[in-house]
Amino acid sequence: MSEKTIGQEMLDKLSYKRRNIYEEATPEKIKAIYDYSEGYKKFLDDGKTEREATEAAIALVEAKGFTEYKLGDKISVGDKRYLNHHGRSLIAFKVGEKDIEREGIKILASHVDSPRLDLKQVPMYEDSGMGFLKTHYYGGVKKYQWTAIPLALHGVMVKADGEVVNVCIGEDDNDPIFYINDLLPHLGAKQAQEPLGTAISGETLNILIGGLPYDDKEVSDKIKLTALSILNEKYGVTEEDFISAELSLVPAFKARDIGFDRALIAAYGHDDRVCSYPAITALLDNADTKDTVMVVLADKEEVGSMGISGMQSAFLVDLIAEISKALGKNEAVVRNNSKCLSADVTACYDPNFADVYEKRNSAMISCGTTMSKYTGARGKSGTSDASAELVGYFRKIFAENDVIWQTGELGKIDMGGGGTVAMYIANQNIPTVDLGVPVISMHAPYEVVSKADVYSTYEAFCAFVK
Ligand code: MN
Ligand code: MN
Repeated sequence: MSEKTIGQEMLDKLSYKRRNIYEEATPEKIKAIYDYSEGYKKFLDDGKTEREATEAAIALVEAKGFTEYKLGDKISVGDKRYLNHHGRSLIAFKVGEKDIEREGIKILASHVDSPRLDLKQVPMYEDSGMGFLKTHYYGGVKKYQWTAIPLALHGVMVKADGEVVNVCIGEDDNDPIFYINDLLPHLGAKQAQEPLGTAISGETLNILIGGLPYDDKEVSDKIKLTALSILNEKYGVTEEDFISAELSLVPAFKARDIGFDRALIAAYGHDDRVCSYPAITALLDNADTKDTVMVVLADKEEVGSMGISGMQSAFLVDLIAEISKALGKNEAVVRNNSKCLSADVTACYDPNFADVYEKRNSAMISCGTTMSKYTGARGKSGTSDASAELVGYFRKIFAENDVIWQTGELGKIDMGGGGTVAMYIANQNIPTVDLGVPVISMHAPYEVVSKADVYSTYEAFCAFVK
């Protein structure tokens, strides 16, 4: 090894460089990263909707002794509980012995809804020998990506008598799948001239569900009747039950490793279960912490965090109020002194689309979990813009715990932009900054992350809550 020159030493000391985790990792570390991703992939396959991900998270926390909490229940120091919020969002929390008025609560807030195709309330029809379901897309989808791929039907239907029926078709290898037709290239000359954004319209995202006519010469809509009769036999439902239902089409793909070296993972719904899983496991693996810790898995982030299960709902502050009251603390002071990592994904630099990124300020793959001081669009519009002090607080913790992480913002100025739940939590006077995994092909039916970045996110959350 040659000695470093003074200039090289100075450069190492004074300049900011992203560090590739795989480049620095020992074989043992790489094994730990790969092993951790197995649990994550199972979590992905177990929960493809917010309801299923909530259930999967409940199974994980219950296995470690967390018990269900309902608003109004008694709370005491040492409690390990979870609030199942209408089955669509979750807060798992540990009440620590430290004074929450002085130390605040440590909050990890991710979301478990992902872009998908929801069924309309009167979805079923047939045309030209094929049965279909009408959809209304949920979240920011590139519509052309959803044609000609295997889809699975997930959700619940509430019957006339109030019974709730769980539906899941297309995940088992023996299940049929569902499908959206696309145009053959031979007749696609005109379609090929259309911009990507309009070549496939929302009203053409119709789900192919069958082709077998009901065996009765006298009735019309025979293929639709076959479908309804199968659903009635299997679930006891009628067409009217679609009106009181939440049914979604999601990609039928399982989470899979990518590449010869298996360093990356392809899956549906990394955004944002890739932060939910590290948040839950960080809480469970640090359940002896003296801090009070809350892990939020929110719903409706992809459509603006509205409604009772979204982060604009009062359920987070209601729970903080309940904990504060139970411990005889001033809630306003507790919130003021709390800290929140808004745990959501960011765009990963992609050399295939280099012109929309500003490389110095983009998250690079395998360089670790990514902090975004601000999000937003058109001059930081819609961002809560975390303080330099808050960024400094986390920077210090990560350095002390050898977490390799990076800073990044979502693309070039005025190319677009995006937001997370950070602003809604910050609006409650809880200091909040974004941190999460960089994603390639975000919002596509099959998204890509690096196992190293998933593990780095887990390490960062552990450093925060331990
Ligand atoms: Mn997200
Ligand atoms: Mn998203």
